[in-house]
Amino acid sequence: MRWISCIRRRAERLRLVASVFEHAAEGVAITDADERIVDVNPTFCEITGYSRAEAIGQTPRALKSGRQDEEFYAAMWQALQHQGYWRGEIWNRKKSGEVYPELLTISAIPDATGAITHYVGIFTDISVLKEHQQYLERMVHYDALTQLPNRVLLIDRLQQAMAHARRGGNLLAVCYLDLDGFKPVNDRYGHGVGDQLLIKVAERFELNIRGGETVARLGGDEFGILVSELSDDTEQAANRAQVVAEDIQAALSEPYQLGRHTLHSSSCIGIALYPMAKESAEDLLRQGDIAMHRAKEAGRNTIQFYLPDMQRSANERLLLENDLRRALVGNELELYYQPQVDAAGAVIGAEALLRWMHNQRGMVPPIEFIAIAEESGLILPIGEWVLFEACRQLKATTPERLPHIAVNVSANQFRQTNFVNQVSSVLNQIGVAPQRLELELTEGLLLEDVEGTIGKMQALREIGVRFSIDDFGTGYSSLAYLKRLPLDKLKIDQSFVRDITTDANDANIVETIIAMARHLSLDVIAEGVETEEERRFLFERGCTHYQGYYFSRPLPAARFVEFLQSAATRN
Ligand code: C2E
Ligand code: CA
Ligand code: CA
Repeated sequence: MRWISCIRRRAERLRLVASVFEHAAEGVAITDADERIVDVNPTFCEITGYSRAEAIGQTPRALKSGRQDEEFYAAMWQALQHQGYWRGEIWNRKKSGEVYPELLTISAIPDATGAITHYVGIFTDISVLKEHQQYLERMVHYDALTQLPNRVLLIDRLQQAMAHARRGGNLLAVCYLDLDGFKPVNDRYGHGVGDQLLIKVAERFELNIRGGETVARLGGDEFGILVSELSDDTEQAANRAQVVAEDIQAALSEPYQLGRHTLHSSSCIGIALYPMAKESAEDLLRQGDIAMHRAKEAGRNTIQFYLPDMQRSANERLLLENDLRRALVGNELELYYQPQVDAAGAVIGAEALLRWMHNQRGMVPPIEFIAIAEESGLILPIGEWVLFEACRQLKATTPERLPHIAVNVSANQFRQTNFVNQVSSVLNQIGVAPQRLELELTEGLLLEDVEGTIGKMQALREIGVRFSIDDFGTGYSSLAYLKRLPLDKLKIDQSFVRDITTDANDANIVETIIAMARHLSLDVIAEGVETEEERRFLFERGCTHYQGYYFSRPLPAARFVEFLQSAATRN
């Protein structure tokens, strides 16, 4: 009876194999040695759209998409002959014409003599997997908010363009763009509006770039534009890059309508040309960034080319920034005080002026480090320290000797949401009458966020703190606007005082400022008064408060106290 159980087992096995063939999630096609299909399973029919009857007798070539070349098929056959199987991704065509990717394994089936009698192809449709891959690819190479290429992709394109430029001898340029005043938009209208603005900006880019140019969002409000295929002549290439940058600036500075808000924006662009030296793509972007920062310093809506000596000064800045971080904790900062006097020479107050005693460089003047402090955010702890220090000086001196101290407040410092609290808590902690503190704000700061500024000024003024406008006359504040601000004083900028006795124009401006102050019932003080002639000129026109070298240079605290003492005995 053994042969019966043997037959049964074989039957069982065949049934199993057939069941696998019928129910497999993979498509299966079996061909004979001449590649004629002898059978296919239901999944094959499902994926390809061909019925079993249609498939049988055909060769798998009927499925060819044409996406692979002859070489591809030659390699496939080679593998089948030598290894007995082939495995890989292949694009095939369905009956409907749709092309799809599949993962395919083909095995050659030999008979007892080793001659191939059949081929079995087993495949799965990997369209979904591919889509997923493409999605990941997008995530890696594109910015989710604006759909623009991101930094990774820009660097990649940059490298290709650089290789191309090296071979062809032509130049290329990178424009590094940063929006002006983007942060205030975020602060004032919220991040939703900020995001909308970035999307609109991206749309303008897409309308304004040509073939051979790639725009990428590098992060925040920074964008990079690759301009390739420029001339091989440096001057022509630079001109062309500048035109591209100017066109982009013009397109971006048209007003933006975001819901009920109409926003205006401008941008600064730094341009780096390649090749200037043996740079990498990263270097080139960094150069664009450095040049962009230079442009920012020159003002809104400006363009700067990268020049090699910028690198040196950029490094220099970086060194200073690191040192400045240390200066704050290492007690290298000091406040000097410059007396302010009235027509009789009596001290009415003083301006606190920051000094940095660098342990190697000696004294670094504020014009060299205030801007760095602003950019790095260090101005916030430094500004708070200045407030503390000035209040301590006030506390140590009687109001009769020193009625007030004026402290310079930078835009970033004033913009902090907790600025009002910060000032009042310093005054409280030290125990100084708020009336003795005057804050000097610049016109630029006042124009930035009018409502927010007025709110903060009012809150501080309620507790007694006073305000003056520094460098008055250099900005664009209108009379109507000034009327709305809770101000106490205008400070005539020293650039007008300098030529007051020789330049009729400056004399006129000074007279106008004095008249304005009177009209608005504000005090007025002139800074940078260096001579008796200047003092008299100002006095005759009704300005009776002065600050300048004619009376005293800014003095370190100890010498300032001596100055107050001798002034008191004089009067
Ligand atoms: P500013 O507020 O306009 O300060 C007046 C500047 O004019 C001071 O320069 C002062 O030393 C100088 N000065 C005073 N009298 C005369 C004069 O008769 N002739 C001439 N030629 N100059 C005179 P300084 O101390 O170098 O400060 C420069 C700028 O740095 C300041 O300009 C201010 O904007 C900024 N700054 C100084 N201290 C601080 C601070 O604590 N915080 C902030 N945010 N900025 C500060
Ligand atoms: Ca000042
Ligand atoms: Ca000033």
